[in-house]
Amino acid sequence: MFKPKRIIFEKGSLDYQISKEIFEKFKDKPNVEIINLSTNRLKENIPGDDLFSQYREGKKTLVVGTKKSLKFQSCKPSAHYQLPLVSGCMGQCEYCYLNTQLGDKPYVKVHVNIDDILNQAEKYINERLPEITIFEGAATSDPIPVEVFTHSLEKAILFFGKNENSRFRFVTKYNDVDSLLKLEHNGHTEIRFSINTSYVIDEYENFTASRDKRIEASIKAAKAGYPMGYLIAPVFIYPNWKEEYHRLLLKLKEKLPSDLDYPVTFEVISHRYTTIAKKRILEVFPESSLPMNDEERKFKFGQFGYGKYIYGEESLGEIKQFFKREIEELFINKEIKYII
Ligand code: SF4
Repeated sequence: MFKPKRIIFEKGSLDYQISKEIFEKFKDKPNVEIINLSTNRLKENIPGDDLFSQYREGKKTLVVGTKKSLKFQSCKPSAHYQLPLVSGCMGQCEYCYLNTQLGDKPYVKVHVNIDDILNQAEKYINERLPEITIFEGAATSDPIPVEVFTHSLEKAILFFGKNENSRFRFVTKYNDVDSLLKLEHNGHTEIRFSINTSYVIDEYENFTASRDKRIEASIKAAKAGYPMGYLIAPVFIYPNWKEEYHRLLLKLKEKLPSDLDYPVTFEVISHRYTTIAKKRILEVFPESSLPMNDEERKFKFGQFGYGKYIYGEESLGEIKQFFKREIEELFINKEIKYII
């Protein structure tokens, strides 16, 4: 659960019930600063003169506001649209794409006009009938740590549960899923858990849930009948990587019940970075030990027009072969979506 150091209420946001509840919950907490904005000058209220301090202060800031533009971003290839419930994340994963995407706005912002957002989702669904429309709830955030304040995922899951022509999916590195377990999801929401070896989590995924807590939460979600999957990303090659990823997969196999309603999905993504991301990461985490030596990587142009440094052909081949063989051997009711 997110424990903010300061909460900023944007102008007009306190008209919404969710905001009032957040305000009531924190108004008497001595170590939480409450700021009611009467202007749009949000950034001035978050300390920090450079990216390093803006990042650290921003990550401890909860902004409560509304989603003004209801034109949803597309979310190819995993979904048709992003569902803009939250942006930003309390986690401080060193490789996170949000470091580049959100830049000097790393704060966590919750959108409290959830009814407007879901009404808009319904319009998009109706435009695409009779096709099924898929919405992604974690395109620019990890929505789980703020769920306790907003119940937005709960509302979205119930909404999509009743709608036959849409699906909802999100991914998390956290474990606070208990409030979602009893909801009538009708199999329309897929919860994916981003997992990794304890070495990678301890080294690079600061302020996230431990490996075992994520696994425990994933088992709860699977037992609650949700379509459930694992995103193993980013995969790093380091001493003993095969043994440690093997132990991780073995642990999943041991814990997963054998009578799941849906096949468990696996998405495996090897570590990669862009030049812009590397520069940004080293500004925010100057001591980072992330392997980002360009000479040891292969440069590849991606589908979105910019290049990435990926593992060389031989290493990538080894990663693909390893995960394919392990997943095939260990799991029965499963689907490997991709290994890249
Ligand atoms: Fe980024 Fe996910 Fe880590 Fe949050 S938990 S910092 S969204 S990688």
